[in-house]
Amino acid sequence: MVPMQTPGAAAPLSTAVYADRLDRARAQMRDKNIDVLLLSLGLDLPYITGYHAMPLERLTMLVVPREGEARMVIPRMEAPRVAPQPGVFEIHPWGETENPVEIVARLAREAGATHNVAVGDQMWARFLVELLPLLPGAQYQRADVVTSMRMAKDADEIAALFAAGAAVDRIAGELQAGNIELVGRTEAAVSADLGERILAEGHQVVNFAIVAAGENAASPHHSPGDRVIRKNEILLCDFGGTMNGYCSDITRCVYLGTPPAEVADAYAVLQEAQAAAVAAGVVGAPCEEVDRAARRIITAAGYGDYFFHRTGHGIGMEAHEDPYMVEGNSQPLAAGHAFSVEPGIYVEGKWGMRLEDIVVASHDGPVPMNSARHELVCLDV
Ligand code: ZN
Ligand code: ZN
Ligand code: ZN
Repeated sequence: MVPMQTPGAAAPLSTAVYADRLDRARAQMRDKNIDVLLLSLGLDLPYITGYHAMPLERLTMLVVPREGEARMVIPRMEAPRVAPQPGVFEIHPWGETENPVEIVARLAREAGATHNVAVGDQMWARFLVELLPLLPGAQYQRADVVTSMRMAKDADEIAALFAAGAAVDRIAGELQAGNIELVGRTEAAVSADLGERILAEGHQVVNFAIVAAGENAASPHHSPGDRVIRKNEILLCDFGGTMNGYCSDITRCVYLGTPPAEVADAYAVLQEAQAAAVAAGVVGAPCEEVDRAARRIITAAGYGDYFFHRTGHGIGMEAHEDPYMVEGNSQPLAAGHAFSVEPGIYVEGKWGMRLEDIVVASHDGPVPMNSARHELVCLDV
């Protein structure tokens, strides 16, 4: 029953910030003829209100009709956790014996907002299924009006991403300097060590700390286990967390000894490809062009079949969010779009490698948020 604070959540911002975001969401609702916006779990809700709902079975939902008051339908027992934002939304608490989905439907009906309904991506399916018969005839769509706003970070959000990025950069620097014990430890032990360092560097949450040795590095999202790290193999570390509401994410590889030509040559290609993709992240370029810039180089060097994931993902309040750097995404990059650039080369059963920075598009060109050394650092072990 103890109300938990949402770990890693940013302190609420000023009411003016949320009022502005809500206004901009409503402007898009008018453009797209959306009657009502329904935001439940996920990060769209705190983006608009400052409130992080716990992922519970009890419904919390912000009901934003195109015209009229926005209301946060929330369990009565959770209501004390909400920082009021006067003029942005009103709190509509519900008691344990009420049906909160009926309340949501009633609020939509009272606002005459029952035809075009936009729902947040991470609402429990259960609530949507229960809502369907209560708003007969409604058309549903994703709440991409908020997604598109969240993509373009403002100056404070960019500063928060930079701070988180600098923190993991320092850890990568320690890794590359040989200051983190590796050989003879298990992947899991090194992963736990990275996790502790992520927290010690000021993050509130560890989102992941992939540590993959040798052949395990060929699995891009390898789960670190009891495999002991040995000399004369590559070690891939991909780690990040959430710091004051914004995420970090970095990948660096080190070689524990002197790499064979096969590995050194592939890494040189990877490094060139990653730099080219960063450089391609200019305002106005389609997201897919970032992917193509990396893939062109990797493919030309003969490793095309060994690079089987997209080049990057957006990052912000979530570690993975829009926009995605993938073939087929022709959305043009805008100033403030923050995203990863992380090509990889993976040879099953042998080795794998990835190099990842976070980059923000700006009118002065792409700005990398990570500056830890990009070459394959070889440790004398
Ligand atoms: Zn990943
Ligand atoms: Zn990563
Ligand atoms: Zn990433």
